[in-house]
Amino acid sequence: MSTLTSTDRALHDFAAQVGAEDPIAVEGNRTRWHLGGPLDELARLVEAPTGIVDYQPSEMVVTVRAGTTVAELHETLAAAGQTSALPDRGGTVGGAVAVGENRLDRLGRGSARDAVLQVRYVSAEGEIVTGGGPVVKNVSGFNLPKLIVGSLGTLGLIAEVVLRTNPLPPVQRWIRAERVDPRDIRDALLRPGAVLWDGTSSWALVEGHEVDVDAEVDKLATLADIADVDGPPELPPHRWFLSPQGAAHVDTMTDGAFIASIGVGTVWAEEPPQPAEPDPVAAQIAERTKRLFDPSGRLNPGRRAGA
Ligand SMILES: Cc1cc2nc3c(=O)[nH]c(=O)nc-3n(C[C@H](O)[C@H](O)[C@H](O)COP(=O)(O)OP(=O)(O)OC[C@H]3O[C@@H](n4cnc5c(N)ncnc54)[C@H](O)[C@@H]3O)c2cc1C
Repeated sequence: MSTLTSTDRALHDFAAQVGAEDPIAVEGNRTRWHLGGPLDELARLVEAPTGIVDYQPSEMVVTVRAGTTVAELHETLAAAGQTSALPDRGGTVGGAVAVGENRLDRLGRGSARDAVLQVRYVSAEGEIVTGGGPVVKNVSGFNLPKLIVGSLGTLGLIAEVVLRTNPLPPVQRWIRAERVDPRDIRDALLRPGAVLWDGTSSWALVEGHEVDVDAEVDKLATLADIADVDGPPELPPHRWFLSPQGAAHVDTMTDGAFIASIGVGTVWAEEPPQPAEPDPVAAQIAERTKRLFDPSGRLNPGRRAGA
C-alpha cells in the first residue's frame, strides 16, 4: 500500500466527502454565487480544501488548494514580490478559477485562464483527476485546465491548482488622461496594467520600476492632459465581452455609462448586455461535454457555464 502525502490526504478526504451519488456543489465565499442560474436546492454543499502546498518563487509557480482565499494566496506571493492573475475580491482560488473572470489589470497580469497550469479536481464519479502539468511548457493532449476555468463547477469540483505567478511591479501609478484616443495611450505605453475609457476620459495603470514609470508618464504628458488619480473609476455593474476592437467602439452600442478595458474586450455598462443568440453547434458541444463529465447531472445542478 502506498503512503499518502499530506497533499494527497487533503485531496482524498475532499473526494470522499464529494462521493459519487448525490447532487453537490462547492461553496466558496459566495462572491459570485448566483452566476449561471439558481442552484438546485437539493444540492449538498461542500468546501474545498485549503492551504498553500508548494511555492517556488524562482520557478514562478504556486500549488494551492482551492478553498484558500485569493487574499491569503496573494499575501504569500507578495512576500516574494509576486502576485497572480486571479481577482482578489473576497473569493476563493477555486471560486475564481470556476468563475474564470479576469482582473481589471488583465492587460498587465494576463488572463485567469492562462494562469492555470494544472488542475486537480474531483469528478462526478468521486475520482481525483489531474489535468495539465506544473511547468509552463507542458501540455500534451486535451488542455483540461483551460476547460475547467470558467466551467462554474459543472464539470468537476476543483481541489487544487498550480498557477503561474507574475512579478509584482515595484511602482503602480494610475493616471487620468483627457482629450486623447485611448488606443494611442495603449500604443504609447510599454506594458500598461490597464487602459480604461468611458467615452471621454481615459485611465491608465502605469507600472514598473520608478524611473521607467516616470519616463512613461512624461511620454503620456506629451499626448494628453494628464493627472495622477488614486485608482480606477467606479465600474458599472454589468460586464460585457466584446472583441478588443469592439471595446474601442462601445460608445456606438450603449446609451448608458460604460467603462471599456482597451486591448482586453471587457466593458462594464449600466445596461445588461443583450442576450446573444447561442450558436447551436457550440451549444450542442457544451451539452455533450457536460454529459461526458457528469452523466447524472450531479455537479452544481441548475447552473450553466456561460449562461
Ligand atoms: C464586489 C465584487 C467585485 C468583484 N469584482 C471582480 C472583478 O473586478 N474582476 C473579477 O474577475 N472578479 C470580480 N469579482 C468576482 C470574484 O472575485 C470571483 O469570481 C471570486 O473569486 C469567486 O470566488 P468565490 O469563492 O466567492 O466563489 P463563489 O461565489 O462561492 O462560487 C462561484 C461559483 O463557483 C463554484 N465554485 C466555487 N468553488 C469551486 C470549486 N472549488 N470547484 C468548483 N466550483 C467551485 C460555486 O459552486 C459557484 O457556482 C467580484 C466580486 C465582488 C463581490
